[in-house]
Amino acid sequence: RVAEKRVEALVRSVRGAFEQYITLAPRLSPEILLNVLASDSPGYLADYIAQSTPIPFTDKQAILEEIHPARRLEKMLSILTRENGILEIEADLQTKVRDQISKNQRDYFLREQMKTIREELGDDEGGGETEADGYREKIVALSLAEETQEKLLHEAGRLSHMNAHSPEYALIRAYLDTALELPWNIQTKDRLDIAAARRILDRDHYGLQKVKERVLEYLAVKRLAPELKGQILCLVGPPGVGKTSVALSVAEALKRKSARLSLGGVRDEADIRGHRKTYIGAMPGRVINAMRQAKSRNAVLLLDEIDKLSSDFRGDPSAALLEVLDPEQNFAFRDHYLEVPFDLSEVLFITTANTTDTIPRALLDRMEVIEITSYTDEEKLQIVKRHLLPKQLKRHGLKKAQLSFTDPALRELIAGYTRESGVRNLEREIAAACRKAAKRIAEGGEQQKRPLAPKDLEPLLGVRKYKPERLRGEDEIGVANGLAWTRVGGELLEVEVGVVDGTGKVELTGNMGDIMKESARAALTYIRSRASALKLDPEFHKNKDMHIHFPESAVPKDGPSAGITMAVAMVSALCGAPVYRNVAMTGEITLRGRVLPIGGLKEKTMAAYRAGIKTVIIPSDNESDLQDIDPTVHSALNFICADHMDTVLKNTVDFTRVHES
Ligand code: ADP
Repeated sequence: RVAEKRVEALVRSVRGAFEQYITLAPRLSPEILLNVLASDSPGYLADYIAQSTPIPFTDKQAILEEIHPARRLEKMLSILTRENGILEIEADLQTKVRDQISKNQRDYFLREQMKTIREELGDDEGGGETEADGYREKIVALSLAEETQEKLLHEAGRLSHMNAHSPEYALIRAYLDTALELPWNIQTKDRLDIAAARRILDRDHYGLQKVKERVLEYLAVKRLAPELKGQILCLVGPPGVGKTSVALSVAEALKRKSARLSLGGVRDEADIRGHRKTYIGAMPGRVINAMRQAKSRNAVLLLDEIDKLSSDFRGDPSAALLEVLDPEQNFAFRDHYLEVPFDLSEVLFITTANTTDTIPRALLDRMEVIEITSYTDEEKLQIVKRHLLPKQLKRHGLKKAQLSFTDPALRELIAGYTRESGVRNLEREIAAACRKAAKRIAEGGEQQKRPLAPKDLEPLLGVRKYKPERLRGEDEIGVANGLAWTRVGGELLEVEVGVVDGTGKVELTGNMGDIMKESARAALTYIRSRASALKLDPEFHKNKDMHIHFPESAVPKDGPSAGITMAVAMVSALCGAPVYRNVAMTGEITLRGRVLPIGGLKEKTMAAYRAGIKTVIIPSDNESDLQDIDPTVHSALNFICADHMDTVLKNTVDFTRVHES
């Protein structure tokens, strides 16, 4: 009985399993199920199921081999259960695949419908959808970093469900256009041929050895260690000495693209880093804009006038600039407008400035400063002959024979028509001469027969603008020559001191800054302490008024280096002894009369040379700077190093000619 019940249970289980099997394997005909349900015989059931279902051959064989009917059915049950398991998994997989496909189909279908609806509404000229698709294609083609690609695709996606006439649509388009124009992966190959680079640098510019050498070194290093990054050059010098143009020719020597951005007057962080897109009229910052122009991610970026940055409540542009220049950060520079990082690490930055004084400290630390100093007249002559004149002739379509100058004429042009550290005005004068020549030729006038001589300049360019800086004829009492350093180069600066009877007042005039006024007082105290040695009335500070004046009041003057000059002029005025005219001096003074070092010696000595000075007195501590000054200047001037006022006075004031008043 137990065996019967067991067989009964087996039969039921098999039926159940088969029912499930037949739902999962839908190709079987329902008749088979009826037959299965109709029979109770375990042997028949097992055989029948085995022959009418597509179970594997090995299983069928196993059934065949089993003689005992109940055990045969048992085997069948285990086969069915296993098959059911497999079929279930299969079904599951299929549904998943089907779901996926139908979602895609659905999307496609909906999109097509939307397109048709838009067309029906006449809403779609060119179509947000097709336009978005166009952008999508371009974005994918750029093979960008994941974050960037996602962001851009997202924006492109927004286009597709937007009215093409809405203002926002235009904004997104502008954004995408900007982003797509950037040189994400465009890079030019550097020319690392040093000889060729040198040729190009020499072709465009005379002199400027330090800059050229530095650039060639950069090339050499780039060749040996291509990975070295983050070198920022800062060219410092007066206007018109060729900072900008040499930087551009560096780009050419390296065969890189270049772009220029001026930082003069930039006071808003957003100028550098851009405005967020939420603003109306938002734009990327100047850096990203420059990259767009440069069209190559290893371009040379020229940041002009970095010393003229200013900052106010709108944020500090120098902080943003720091991020641009810092090699640790600039591989992922984030512009507010662009919102995705842009790699600036391959860019070669060259900055220019007139002075390092006003460059924010943190920026200055990042840069390698190369100073370019003013040109001497001799250098200017070479520059004008080799570069400026040929350049301007070419620009004006003239031939060499149609306009040429003798050397004396060029010297006259330099000295009489320009007064500058660089050569910008000189180039302008040459251009003016070219225009005149072109006009004459166009009017069919006569050809130039001989090179222009000095006397030909006046008819061509008008009367000469600058009288030669000639020193006044005689040594004077109370007048001394100082040397000053300004942003535009060196300058000869006269001090006048007048002494009259009075009550000990000291008057300082001539647009002097605070530091200068303090120097004047220090000089005065020194003179009082030396009154007896100088044979002065010990009471002079009570019964004399002194007036210290710097002519050319329009020029602001400040700095300590006029200290010894003021002291000399005061002593001269108080003693009534004249100062040698052809001596100029520069140095700071202490209360004890020590002479302290000063800066800008090269520019100052050049000014002295231009003015026809013979002897220059400099602080002893500046003696080592003499090797930097221009050779022509060096050989033309006589230098006296002084560490105390006594030496200065001995060489400047002629005490033998005391004029008793
Ligand atoms: P900066 O940027 O220093 O103010 P620029 O680069 O604008 O000066 O130079 C002014 C002009 O003078 C340019 O046309 C430049 O080619 C020319 N120039 C300056 N220095 C030299 C030089 N050493 N050799 C040839 N041309 C020069």
